[in-house]
Amino acid sequence: MPYVITSPCESSRDGSCVDACPVDAIHPSEDEAEFGSHPQLYIDPLTCIECGACAPACPVNAIFAHQEVPASMQSYIEINAAHYQR
Ligand code: SF4
Repeated sequence: MPYVITSPCESSRDGSCVDACPVDAIHPSEDEAEFGSHPQLYIDPLTCIECGACAPACPVNAIFAHQEVPASMQSYIEINAAHYQR
């Protein structure tokens, strides 16, 4: 199951996770034009290979494995996926 970025990212958008991800599954990055128009970063569930590298890189503990997302933040599973629905 993919990893998910949750609400603590909204006050940070640190971007360390982007650098940690080996498959470029986290967007928008700081150098992308849409960075300024989103409250947080998102993980593409179809690209994520579940390596777990992003979670410890996050300074605000916003990233969880899909099955470990806290109950109060379950909506972020869909919020992340929705960002990549085309
Ligand atoms: S778990 Fe690995 S592949 Fe998935 S978003 Fe995090 S760093 Fe990228």
